[in-house]
Amino acid sequence: MLITEKKLLSILEKIPLDDAHNLSSANVLKELKIVDSNIKLNLCIFNPSLQFKNKIKSALLDKILKNFPNATLDIEFVASKTIKNTIAVASGKGGVGKSTISSNLAIALKNQGYSVGLLDADIYGPSIPLMFDAEHEKPKKVQRGDTSLMSPIISYGIKIMSIGFFLNPSDALVWRGPMATKALTEIAQNTDWGHLDYLLIDLPPGTGDIHLSLVQILSITGAIIVTTPQPVSLIDAKKAINMFKKKDINVPIIGLIENMSWLLINENKHYIFGKGGGGSLAESEKIDLLSQIPLDQSIREAGDVGRPAALQDSVLGSVFDSLGHVVHRCVSDRNNMIAPTKKVQITHNRGCN
Ligand code: ADP
Repeated sequence: MLITEKKLLSILEKIPLDDAHNLSSANVLKELKIVDSNIKLNLCIFNPSLQFKNKIKSALLDKILKNFPNATLDIEFVASKTIKNTIAVASGKGGVGKSTISSNLAIALKNQGYSVGLLDADIYGPSIPLMFDAEHEKPKKVQRGDTSLMSPIISYGIKIMSIGFFLNPSDALVWRGPMATKALTEIAQNTDWGHLDYLLIDLPPGTGDIHLSLVQILSITGAIIVTTPQPVSLIDAKKAINMFKKKDINVPIIGLIENMSWLLINENKHYIFGKGGGGSLAESEKIDLLSQIPLDQSIREAGDVGRPAALQDSVLGSVFDSLGHVVHRCVSDRNNMIAPTKKVQITHNRGCN
């Protein structure tokens, strides 16, 4: 029987890869080539373990040979890049709301339908477990082929991993320098994130060794800088921006978020920490001002009770919702600029209608 692409695609369609994909899905089937009785397939898979590849191979052999007994098969696998975008959230100064923004941005992106992970790398004050009501959770170990990994804790649909899950609050001060860097490196490399559209990293404040190490081991798509409008925070935010801009670091800056921009009382904005500081810094550094987030009691309360404000159906919820959209647009624009998405290539159309 003549081997046709149409027939092959209908066979591949019946072989499931996971809950959402089969072997003919556009982001799985990268190449399908037929030369006489030889069929060449290139498949992009999320799980690169030998066992999984063997399972797929035998399903393919079984189904294809049933239809084309004389066919020979060349199957190539490429591992899918499971984390699409890794975004570092940084601030020069502590206490400006970096963790609050990271948490709410994670929820906002999740609300748009993206799969999101949040890595709390703030060794000096890991607050993500508290902000996600996961303080007493302990990540479990999972075996993936030969590798032992840790499962992130899932809260409000966000996959969370925090240095805070592994240390007593009183240990944080001792964990400076190389020890902290080593622990973070292990956590960053050994978490079983699975497929993620976004991994947000809540960095420690400042511009130290930990930042340099994380930038080296994780391939960072871009950085977001959080500041308040006051000079003492802006000066440190500028240092963080300069760190990412350095030639040997060279992490693109997605933009600046001004937090605690104003306090609304009786419809009047009160600029407690000064007015427009974030805008001026963004302009002078030629980066985007992504959002201005008001100072609001319910943002603080939501963080403290472990239910981020972005989950609220309120004005604040929509502030974070817009932030999520802006960040996604800026990241997509940047990705398109740097590496245009490749189209799926089906190199042979013999037999297609
Ligand atoms: P950082 O991560 O920069 O150290 P946090 O996110 O922990 O800062 O925030 C410090 C404190 O400020 C927390 O108590 C948090 O709830 C509060 N906070 C942050 N942003 C806001 C805001 N926009 N309105 C009210 N409180 C805020």
